[in-house]
Amino acid sequence: MNLIPRLSRFAARHTACRWLALNKGRGVVSFSFDDVPASACHQGAVLLELYQARGSFYICGSLTDGMEQNQVCHSVEDLKRLIENEHEVGCHTYSHMNCANVSSDALVRDWEKNQTFFSQHGISNHGFAFPFGAYDLGSKLAAQKRFAYSRITGGGTQTGRADLSALRAQSLYSANTNVDALDALIKHTASEGGWLILYSHEVSENPGPWGTTPELLETALRIATQESCHILPVRKAIDFFLS
Ligand SMILES: [Zn+2]
Repeated sequence: MNLIPRLSRFAARHTACRWLALNKGRGVVSFSFDDVPASACHQGAVLLELYQARGSFYICGSLTDGMEQNQVCHSVEDLKRLIENEHEVGCHTYSHMNCANVSSDALVRDWEKNQTFFSQHGISNHGFAFPFGAYDLGSKLAAQKRFAYSRITGGGTQTGRADLSALRAQSLYSANTNVDALDALIKHTASEGGWLILYSHEVSENPGPWGTTPELLETALRIATQESCHILPVRKAIDFFLS
């Protein structure tokens, strides 16, 4: 990476922050899915519901009823079922756009296209996840004007405070998740009263590099439950920390 993108990312990370205090004394774990493959809406949502939990699903309207990485994507009916069952549906741009170093006009046009898609189907959304976790100061500021929060990627548990304009998230990918490390991360979240946001894509017995098996997803749900963490969609987690 050359110097200018690194400086841009540094500026984006350390300015225009909207801090949320994480001081409730109880840990929160949020489960999120990006893009979103149909399997996340089916196996993923069903597993969450078995644990009385709900998730956050970040949608690109251009992927609805389509395919991505050989995965069947969600349908409009899948989104309606998620909402009926009190999951959160959020925006992930319309075209899965890399938001870093894009003109604000192009970004706003793309967001509006996704908003039109949501409106056509009566879906309200308030949260945003940056595709690829890619953002810069311009896109961070633009998202701040439009969404209640923005989620990035970049792992770990947030303790003490979290930036509502760049909420960190830890990948839950079977290809690179060590169960002992996941266990330690959730225990740390519980003991520190922090907030761990996990994200994945498909939920499949044979996931690609960016997906999880049902077994790993259930392991995370089980540990979070055993550690008495609240399991909340991102938007509801914010309400909890603000309450
Ligand atoms: Zn994505």
